[in-house]
Amino acid sequence: MESTLPNNLILGSGIAGISAGYHLKQNGQSSVIFEKDNDWGGLCGNFSIKGFRFDRFVHFSFTKDEYIADIFEKSSPLFAHPSVSYNYYHGSWLKHPAINNLAVLPIEEKVKIIADFLDRPHKEIADIKDYDEWLRVQNGNYFTDNFATVYTKKYWGQLPKNMETKWIGNRIHSPAFEEVLRGSYAEQAENFYYTNYMKYPKKGGFRSILDYCRKGLDIRFNKKVIRISPQSKQIFFADGSCEEYSKLISSLPLPEIVKMIDDCPAEVLKAAQNLHWTCGYQVSLGFNRPDVAKHLWFYIYDEDVPPARVYSPNLKSADNAPEGCSSLQAEVFYANDAKIPPADLVLGQTIEKLKQICGFDDADIVVKDIRFEPYANVTFTHEIYQNREVILNYLKEIGIESIGRFGKWDYLWSHQAFESGMRLSYEKK
Ligand SMILES: Cc1cc2nc3c(=O)[nH]c(=O)nc-3n(C[C@H](O)[C@H](O)[C@H](O)COP(=O)(O)OP(=O)(O)OC[C@H]3O[C@@H](n4cnc5c(N)ncnc54)[C@H](O)[C@@H]3O)c2cc1C
Repeated sequence: MESTLPNNLILGSGIAGISAGYHLKQNGQSSVIFEKDNDWGGLCGNFSIKGFRFDRFVHFSFTKDEYIADIFEKSSPLFAHPSVSYNYYHGSWLKHPAINNLAVLPIEEKVKIIADFLDRPHKEIADIKDYDEWLRVQNGNYFTDNFATVYTKKYWGQLPKNMETKWIGNRIHSPAFEEVLRGSYAEQAENFYYTNYMKYPKKGGFRSILDYCRKGLDIRFNKKVIRISPQSKQIFFADGSCEEYSKLISSLPLPEIVKMIDDCPAEVLKAAQNLHWTCGYQVSLGFNRPDVAKHLWFYIYDEDVPPARVYSPNLKSADNAPEGCSSLQAEVFYANDAKIPPADLVLGQTIEKLKQICGFDDADIVVKDIRFEPYANVTFTHEIYQNREVILNYLKEIGIESIGRFGKWDYLWSHQAFESGMRLSYEKK
């Protein structure tokens, strides 16, 4: 039977899929987006409980691309929050980045950090073999062992020596000695973050940045793709239906899509098995007090505290919580191949630790929720590039355009995932 759908089928209604649909439309081509969930936005999406809205992880926009910034702004008026965040370390609060703001630490610890900083190994970036060495060249041993390595295990689920360094770019500040010294006397006013402002929609949660593009797109929900036949150019869904395509654009994670493709070669499946990523829990808490949330976001270095990072949805926008209330969301990450502890255990441990860190009681909590995301960050282990190349070359060969954070298998921020959906390679020809 002849399909009545347009020829362009897009898999996934995250920011990359929505961008692809919007830009095809701008070029006069229609498309249909198939989404496994019952709502759009993917990782940029959100959920609400008793009037509290929580994004799926932290989420701000800091694009410098004028075209993309304009589309986001057209969608929704945005707050521009100064990029000020904090680090929690053994009971002390250090402004971010910690090494630039050591002032609050005990004198003996400051001396150890600064002495090791002065003694740090010197190497050309090109000669650095792994992230562990990179951290030691940047910070010295004491800070690397007690701050950066502990945090790497919490955020990436890996030891730094298992990771390469091309992903770093300007994400991590490289401090000068004068900065470290100055910050060891007093907290510095200067912002060392890679962006001065973090933008966030005034209403509707982070995904509102997509309202302008999303209008008029045909998104079909509860359509989980389970099989793809490149031979017959068909996709099959969990509900038993199937569709034909002439162009297939996918934002599905590479390790998932290869398992769906008929007769996928063994070397491609093997390359996918050798990819690494993080998954994680979001612990979301709503409070009947306005003052629990004190920082827009903060990092936690202590090994015995499950979350690596916590942020305050109500400080991103008051629209995210009922009047007179505040909220927190904690991010707890694991390597994809780690043994993941049960949700109720992580929820209980996180609440107990955050009670001490943030100063609230059981009686203050009106919402507590935990949910799991199977894909959070792509992990840059040493063999990432060759494995990724094998898979992407194969997808190209069989005519599947792979986009988005997990389709490109890269450390893409939301605006970069958006960009990948706007630069479809077959559109350029
Ligand atoms: C912890 C964390 C914090 C972040 N913070 C920021 C930030 O502050 N600022 C920023 O700019 N970016 C941030 N990002 C990055 C941002 O979330 C991503 O770049 C972006 O959301 C990726 O969008 P995407 O469309 O590529 O993928 P996704 O959002 O994952 O979209 C893929 C879609 O495909 C659907 N799908 C999957 N499998 C199937 C299937 N079989 N059938 C049909 N549909 C399927 C999924 O449900 C999903 O909707 C953060 C990411 C994480 C993990």
